[in-house]
Amino acid sequence: MTTQAIDIHTHIVPADIPAYAGKHGGAHWPQMAPAHDCHHKCVMIDGKNFRTVTDECWDIERRLEVMARMGIARQVLSPMPELLSYWLPLDDALALIRHVNGTIADMAARAPDRFIGLGAVPMQDPDVAARELERLMKDGFAGVELGSNINGAALGDPRFEVFFAAAEELGAAVFVHALHPPGKERIVGPAGLMTFIGFPLETAYTIASLITGGTLTRHPKLRLAFSHGGGAFASILPRLEHGWKIKPDFAERMGAPPHEHARRLYYDTLVYDAPTLGHLINTFGVKQLCIGTDFPFEVYEHHPVDAVAALNLSAGEVQLLHHDNADMLRSKVWRRASGDDHFYAAHEEHRWHSYHRDSDVRAVQRDILRLAGVAEIESHRLTNRYQRRT
Ligand SMILES: [Zn+2]
Repeated sequence: MTTQAIDIHTHIVPADIPAYAGKHGGAHWPQMAPAHDCHHKCVMIDGKNFRTVTDECWDIERRLEVMARMGIARQVLSPMPELLSYWLPLDDALALIRHVNGTIADMAARAPDRFIGLGAVPMQDPDVAARELERLMKDGFAGVELGSNINGAALGDPRFEVFFAAAEELGAAVFVHALHPPGKERIVGPAGLMTFIGFPLETAYTIASLITGGTLTRHPKLRLAFSHGGGAFASILPRLEHGWKIKPDFAERMGAPPHEHARRLYYDTLVYDAPTLGHLINTFGVKQLCIGTDFPFEVYEHHPVDAVAALNLSAGEVQLLHHDNADMLRSKVWRRASGDDHFYAAHEEHRWHSYHRDSDVRAVQRDILRLAGVAEIESHRLTNRYQRRT
């Protein structure tokens, strides 16, 4: 099956993670350990197996084999969300994040026409996160993956303003992935239910916070995509719209009707149900949906191209979902600058090579640890040029 399809929702895990070398004791620092099956490894956190993963997480040849079966031409690579490290001390988080980002850069550099990279940034310090984003964009990444909350804080919280200002100015694609939903105590049954029940509710809270907190009004050029079809947000949108009509203070905070904000965000197709996917297209618009699968984790959608085909869309609309929407999400700034896809591809490859050469992972980690922790990092903080200009 040959398509131009781009999958915007896939994850990587490094084959190995360096032993902890920081000064905080190493709690929550992940390690990779052998599993019984030779194609698997265990992600160990605090001595427990958090998840057993396959070598498709780091082996691009294995990924390319499966992509051929799935009809996917390109994958957007982003970290397994549990590696986003918002819960680690800042210097530990930077060491781990740069190792993860280095893995993504390495995978993309080996097949730059097949893989697009989204990195991680330490959102527990939004100033440092903005600076890391600038570094990622210089190094060839298309943008970042963000968790849907940062240690419990909503993304619409004013503390993240500096980061979203930077993302807008840099033209970064921002893929928001459900993470650690609140309200776990309300779920009755096995712990694994959290990702099936909690994730969609969590994503709805997150999108709503970016609307009601004014982030989307202040940054109209932000390019944001949301995992799992935006979760439950499509279902609460009509109610929020009603609130906007009858509550003057709602209208003041949101700046524009909620549906206008919602129809300029991007969402993946990962809802496992054709009528639901059709509803998302009706609600958000056919130009806002991109293929997403959660490859290579247990829940991944094995037949994403068939899921789109089941909607009986026109050829032009299929092309939007397969390719054009994701292309707009990732590269509007680049495409405008170059006006030429060939130029874009060649330049992208060059930048990946630069990243690889400059970022020997252990050297980076040693550098970070030499920084004597946060004090040195803070001395290099961003200037206030991304601060809100109001
Ligand atoms: Zn995912």
